[in-house]
Amino acid sequence: MTRKKHLCPEISVVIPVYNEAENLLPLYERLTTSLDALNRPYEIVFTNDGSKDESLNILKGFYQERPTQVRIVDFHGNYGQHMAIIAAFEKSRGDVVITLDADLQNPPEEIFKLLEKIKEGYDYVGSYRAHRQDTFFRTYVSKLINWFRETTTNIHMKDQGCMLRAYSRHIINQIVKSNEKSVFIPALAYTLALNPTEVEVKHCSRSAGKSKYNLYSLVRLNFDLITGFSLVPLQMFTLFGMIVSALSGILVAYLLSRRIILGPEVEGVFTLFAILFFLVSVVIMGIGIVGEYVGRIFQSLNQRPRFVIKETIEEEINDKS
Ligand code: UDP
Ligand code: MG
Repeated sequence: MTRKKHLCPEISVVIPVYNEAENLLPLYERLTTSLDALNRPYEIVFTNDGSKDESLNILKGFYQERPTQVRIVDFHGNYGQHMAIIAAFEKSRGDVVITLDADLQNPPEEIFKLLEKIKEGYDYVGSYRAHRQDTFFRTYVSKLINWFRETTTNIHMKDQGCMLRAYSRHIINQIVKSNEKSVFIPALAYTLALNPTEVEVKHCSRSAGKSKYNLYSLVRLNFDLITGFSLVPLQMFTLFGMIVSALSGILVAYLLSRRIILGPEVEGVFTLFAILFFLVSVVIMGIGIVGEYVGRIFQSLNQRPRFVIKETIEEEINDKS
């Protein structure tokens, strides 16, 4: 079974697109220039993640220009960046799959660095941003979460947020099979990698438009990262509960003996209130943490599809030729 050369790309570049109309043309031009220069067969798989602007029409224009190299997965709604990437993974056929953001924060000219590492025998090439060009708040929070992930999970990477990454085919196949509903792709891929490495890449500020993440969606994404790969939050919570109950035991014993020896006391009521409020807030937080895990179980038990594809725009693949 031999396929036409253009039908079996060596490299697949996967790009999630959500309202990126202003960025798509410069992205496409810079990306195709960089990929053409490699002189290896490639494809670009875009997922339109329910964009409400002109993104889909612009992507269709790219397909018309290069029907053998461009493929489009058009989602029925907005399922999020990571689901968009998974859908494109499902369609991708390259031996190496590269993920890239559509907003040109990851320069396409850096792709060759990742491919060189794959050639050296690594099956997962992550990246860290040389001089991160995001708001101070984003960069700082991200550092904190990097530290927390580093200490609570077995996933070790310098910069989890940088999406310019290369994965070899066996990792992609496993991710597609995994059927997880909320997933953080670089972390899941890391757990499946046999020989991972990282390279430094340039980072630019968004070419046009605004970040698609607000504070809430960022918090949710990072919950996926931590609760998807570690039980440490639950264990920390239990541990905290044990320490607090031991301390409370000592306090009760102290107050009781004080009452017997010195008589009842009325002072310090507000201190007790403060302690109580603190403990109640910890309990609420704990219920939230348990809820996160229960939510994940719920999601994985229900049989709903992870995403719905409206249409796939691609050239027909003829395996029998
Ligand atoms: N994205 C997406 N669906 C979403 C949110 C984002 O496909 O619901 C895409 C977006 O178009 C971009 C990439 O994911 O290509 C990264 O998004 P963004 O640049 O907004 O994230 P940030 O760089 O702020 O983390
Ligand atoms: Mg961005």
